[in-house]
Amino acid sequence: MIRNETRACLVEHGLQPVQLEALYYLSMCNRFSDTPKAVTEYLGLTKGTVSQSLKVLESKGYVNKTLDPSDKRITHIALTAQGKALIAKTQPSQLLKNVWAKATLNQNGLDGDVLQQQLESLLLTLQQQNQCKSFGVCKTCKHNQTLTDGTHLCGLTQLALSETDIQKICIEHSK
Ligand code: SF4
Repeated sequence: MIRNETRACLVEHGLQPVQLEALYYLSMCNRFSDTPKAVTEYLGLTKGTVSQSLKVLESKGYVNKTLDPSDKRITHIALTAQGKALIAKTQPSQLLKNVWAKATLNQNGLDGDVLQQQLESLLLTLQQQNQCKSFGVCKTCKHNQTLTDGTHLCGLTQLALSETDIQKICIEHSK
């Protein structure tokens, strides 16, 4: 179902699957993870393939590149308004939510919470076996500290994290 929905979107916008995947990753990741290197690690592809994909996304106006203000060797990539609109239209997570809701209806005898825990555990095992990074959501990271005033701090970088930051995925995420 997801593939069919995605294919229709790709034809309409003249994009390849890998380009949409890169755009989708960039819509979810935090400011420490919006680099070509992180996209390469997340997608598990070669540097060349990712570099080409990012060039296409930039030429079509879906992303903007900026240099890191404190380290000019690092490039950050952000979605433009056009990129955000495309993701809002094609977001696989909404479709997944619908599929998930149908699959875990009580009449199927499935407990959605238990199934989710088991699938997360399976994913973690596979990631560890394959030595992949977890790319988890910031609020579940062991480095995420909640301070006495309720704000959040990244224990790894010692930088403050906003409520939006902690909902995003991160290349440095650790359980
Ligand atoms: S707390 Fe963890 S996930 Fe969040 S920014 Fe720091 S390293 Fe990344």
